[in-house]
Amino acid sequence: MKAFEDEVETALATDIEALVGKGVFGDGDFEAVEQAARIAALQAANGLVAHHINADHSDMQGARLACDHGHDARYAGRRSRTVTTVLGPMTLVRAWYHCRTCNAGFAPRDRDLGIDAGPLSPGVLRMVGYAAGEYSFATSSKMIDVMAALRIDAKTVERHAEALGREVAEDERNVVEPEPMDARTLYVGLDGTGIPVRKSETAGRKGKQADGLAKTREVKLASVWSAERCDPKTGRPVRDPGSASHSAAIESIASRDTDPESSQFAKRILRELKRRGFYRAERRVIIGDGAAWIWNFASEHLPGAIQIVDIFHVRQHLFDIAKAIYGPGTDMATAWGTRMCDQLDRPGGVDIVIAEIERSPVCNKAVAYFRNNCNRMRYAKFRKQGLCVSSGVVEGACKSVIGKRLKQGGMHWTVQGANAIIALRCAFANNRFDDFWERRAARRVA
Ligand SMILES: [Zn+2]
Repeated sequence: MKAFEDEVETALATDIEALVGKGVFGDGDFEAVEQAARIAALQAANGLVAHHINADHSDMQGARLACDHGHDARYAGRRSRTVTTVLGPMTLVRAWYHCRTCNAGFAPRDRDLGIDAGPLSPGVLRMVGYAAGEYSFATSSKMIDVMAALRIDAKTVERHAEALGREVAEDERNVVEPEPMDARTLYVGLDGTGIPVRKSETAGRKGKQADGLAKTREVKLASVWSAERCDPKTGRPVRDPGSASHSAAIESIASRDTDPESSQFAKRILRELKRRGFYRAERRVIIGDGAAWIWNFASEHLPGAIQIVDIFHVRQHLFDIAKAIYGPGTDMATAWGTRMCDQLDRPGGVDIVIAEIERSPVCNKAVAYFRNNCNRMRYAKFRKQGLCVSSGVVEGACKSVIGKRLKQGGMHWTVQGANAIIALRCAFANNRFDDFWERRAARRVA
């Protein structure tokens, strides 16, 4: 082994000597030199690692070995396979067993190395996950090439990033580890945002397009955060840095009374609340826009939580009503809208706002919105209690966690693909990816 290592070292030294040793700096393109030296170093390391692994025949575990299905598989010699590693394509020669019953073969070493599921090493798969969580598959492919000197085409990035995302999603469903919680008040904000999907994913769904068909599917998102500090200028609570976590998916929230189980998205929210210690918080608050599913969820699953409609949605609503009464862009509309918004901030103000709306010639829908939500609009009372009255955190997450990656031009997602990438992005945003990765590696050893 020593001789081989010396040989590699000498070869690398010679390569690098050839690149920089002959005074090529003067007219040189330093980038060409550094890139070539990197390739030489990677190749040398690649050769050494492969040499060590291939010289170790401990993966030959006798003439017979049980396959995954418990059958008797027979040793069939050593076979080579090339996998993509952070050191470049690496050819490994492993003990091969063949199962006649399954009519398939396997290499025990592939499982040990974490390359049984695909041709990417764990190190490369992590790169692919990080890149594709942040950038389009095409950009990820390019970035991995530029940064890691690895050629992985966009389609391969897509396939493996989505497979990894599905693992993350599965892990999220199965592992609910309570995290430290020291806030007096915890907030959960719920919201939805549409992402562009393939035609096949919206078949039979009503949409907002001119032809009445949907071109998007709604990603529902739950954010949990605390806001124990106050802005010294306004005296109003602001989100504690690093306190927000997010969980999102294209999932249904509706469950009929006859369904024995909660809906997928309800279960998702509950897992996140459990993780965050929501039930241990002295005060629990749920914030959203006026969407009925949010309050249905709250009354069914979070009795005792304070329900608040995001104040900015309500203000927007008031200005929309003002436009409907007085005409868009008129001074009257602005004056009425402003007066109503001021009223909203006062104790008992929402009752006056409702009375004003009822006296005006507006549609019943607007009246119903305010009537149904009036107890969720007692902003003066909420503020006196030191509570947040805005769902800015979850709306920000709709943009940063979902929109930034999934709503780019020309994208057409499958529901499965979108949910995989969303799972990855949530894991990154919540700083939980590394824990997932550790569990993943531990499962392989087990
Ligand atoms: Zn078998």
